[in-house]
Parts: sequence; structure tokens; C-alpha cells
Amino acid sequence: MSLVMSGGELAASIRAETADLAAELTAAGRTPTLAVVTATADEASAWYVRSLSRTAAKVGIACDITDLGQASPSRPESPDAAVESIRVELIALSENPLVHGIVLQTPLPGGARLAELAGLIDPAKDVDGANPTSLGRLMTGLPTFAPATAAAVLALLDRYEVALSGRRAVVVGRSAVVGKPVAQLLLARDATVTVCHSRTVDLAAVTSTAEVLVVAAGRAGLVGASFVAAGAVVVDVGTNAVAGGGLAGDVDPAVAEVAGALSPVPGGVGPVTTALLLRHVVEAATAVPVLPAAPRRACCGRRRSGRPSGRRRDAGRRR
Ligand code: NAP
Repeated sequence: MSLVMSGGELAASIRAETADLAAELTAAGRTPTLAVVTATADEASAWYVRSLSRTAAKVGIACDITDLGQASPSRPESPDAAVESIRVELIALSENPLVHGIVLQTPLPGGARLAELAGLIDPAKDVDGANPTSLGRLMTGLPTFAPATAAAVLALLDRYEVALSGRRAVVVGRSAVVGKPVAQLLLARDATVTVCHSRTVDLAAVTSTAEVLVVAAGRAGLVGASFVAAGAVVVDVGTNAVAGGGLAGDVDPAVAEVAGALSPVPGGVGPVTTALLLRHVVEAATAVPVLPAAPRRACCGRRRSGRPSGRRRDAGRRR
């Protein structure tokens, strides 16, 4: 039976550090604040945002949810208007000095492209590393916020002292949110990385070469025991809704009989992702120059936003 790489303890220690830093910032008059923009009525996304908001409150981070759910494709608003309302909101939040972190929640309405819209997020507030500028900085080794899930995979591997330098790593999935940034982070740690996707021929033949295997495909049970080399370290990023409730990973539970270590779903990468996202908010708030005091509105509530956009602030700040 393989070692269970649980994320619970690691997430708790990250949250504790984050809470201490958030308390210091708040005492100094700067409550770290995360703005989350949702733009469809997707229930799984709404569940995640509620959970993120609750965790943020526990560590002393204000979480301001802008619900543009009326822009759902199932509603009468035109796709162009839906995209425009997201653009307006992201520009306004990027300019708002009281907001330190911004997340654009997926799924987006039909016709909206994450990379284009995320490009409107000030990179200094891009706590989930979605802006193509952030991804480019990650690629070139410059300081930036990595996508929280990708960072969580590396944090979990480090927590269990998995050696990476010189080892054969395989990543299943090539999204800009998980697969590509995980591959980049592994490469930056001197692993020899192969990236697989839906057109990969004989996936099992490739994955079974891995000493470290990261699976982020969004296909429940895709990776079975025959896909994994004996003793390999396997990180399961997948979160797939199961009929009747609950979550299943992309890795079949039978892999536990073959792998040296395996992260569970739920309870593996997920809690670490949330904890790191919130730590990024505190880091972003810490990096902001001291601002003159200004009245702030209540946070952690769900609201509809109709705020107009204004001039874009100089986005030259970096962590
Ligand atoms: P995504 O955008 O749908 O990308 C999925 C990737 O997997 C694509 O690159 C796709 O290949 C590849 N793929 C799909 N089916 C495959 C197959 N049969 N064989 C090989 N590759 C296959 O999904 P994502 O946003 O990266 O998320 C991946 C999973 O991680 C999802 O289950 C998601 O819910 C989960 N997730 C978890 C967290 C967390 O915190 N735990 C955070 C984010 C996402 P193509 O590019 O060829 O289509």
C-alpha cells in the first residue's frame, strides 16, 4: 500500500502562517482583500467560491464576491454584453487600491476567453497566475504568482520530500491552469518532463515511465494501476463530481497498490490550492506601498456589481 500524501496538514500550516500575516496587515490598517468574479450560474463553481470565502474569513482575509451570474448563457443577455461586463469589472478591481488579489472564476460565459479576460487583471493582483503576463514570467523564471493549483502540486511534493532533480516526471493534462504550469515548475526544479494530452498515443506507455506522475485531466479513474510504475510518486489533481455526491480523482484507487506514494481526492491537492491562493493574497497585500486611508465597503458578501470602469492604473508593480 502506498504512502498517502495528504494535503490537510500542509494546508493547515500554510493557513496558520497566512492568518498571522493577515492579522499584522489588518492591524496596520490594510485588511488583505480578495475579489472573486463569477460570471455564470455554475453550481460547482458557486460551491467552490463559497468554500473559498469561508476559508478566507477564517484566516482574516476579506473576500468580496462579484456575482455577474446574470451573464449566464442561459439568461437573455447577449454574449458580447456578458464579456463586456466581466471586462469592466476586472478593470475596476485592478484599479481599486483596496483590492489586493483578483480571481476570475471559471466557467466563463460562451464566447469569453479566459486568457484574454485574465489579461485585464493587474499582474500584481493576479493571485491565481491567470494573466498571460504571469504565465510568461513563470516560463522565464521571473518572480510571479504561479497558478495556485500548480504551486500546490509542488508544495505537496516538497512536503513529502520527493526528489525532483534529474527524475523523470510525466504530467497528464496541458491546460494553462494546471498542466502547463505544473510542467514548468517541475522543469524549473530540474526534472525531465513529458506532457501528455488527449492526443497522446498509448498514454499508459508514457505514464509508466514516470518516477513522478501528475494527473490533471478531469477524467475520473483515467489512470489505472497498469499506467503506473512500481514505486512511482503520483499526484492526483483531478476533481470529478460523482453521481450521488462526492468527488473522484483522475487516478483509480487501485493505483495505491502499485505506487510508492499517492495523493488522495479529496484531501490532497485541493486544500493546499486554497491555502496557497490565500497566502498569495497576503503576499500581494504585503507588496503594496502604504496608501492613504480610504473608506472601504463591507466585504465577504455576495453582490451584483454595476460599477463603471475607470483609467487603468500603472501595472508596473511586481512582487
Ligand atoms: P481542462 O482544462 O479540461 O484540461 C484537461 C487536460 O487533460 C487537457 O489538456 C486534455 O487534453 C487532457 N485530457 C483530457 N482527457 C484526456 C485523456 N483521456 N488522456 C490524456 N489527456 C487527457 O482541465 P483543468 O482545468 O486542467 O483541470 C484538470 C482537472 O483538475 C479537473 O478535474 C479539475 O477539476 C481539476 N482541478 C483541481 C484543482 C484543485 O485544486 N484540486 C484545481 C483546478 C483543477 P487536450 O488538451 O488534448 O484536450
